[in-house]
Amino acid sequence: MPQQFGTFTASELYCPKCGRSQPVRERLLLVLPSGELYEFLCSRCATSLGKRTVTGPAVAATARQPKPRPARTRRLLR
Ligand SMILES: [Zn+2]
Repeated sequence: MPQQFGTFTASELYCPKCGRSQPVRERLLLVLPSGELYEFLCSRCATSLGKRTVTGPAVAATARQPKPRPARTRRLLR
């Protein structure tokens, strides 16, 4: 079973009530200043299977910024 890392989006989770993996539904629980809190519900019996926080675009943009290059690599030629 392949595991995916990076963007965590669960499409199926193990449901203890159903006794097997079930497709999940996302439900918006809370809107926070830092992002949105979603809850995963079993699509069959609506048991809560987990939560996920989705951070806003501002946070994602910060993480995407390239690192500034150190100026030390420049050589002075005389
Ligand atoms: Zn279930």
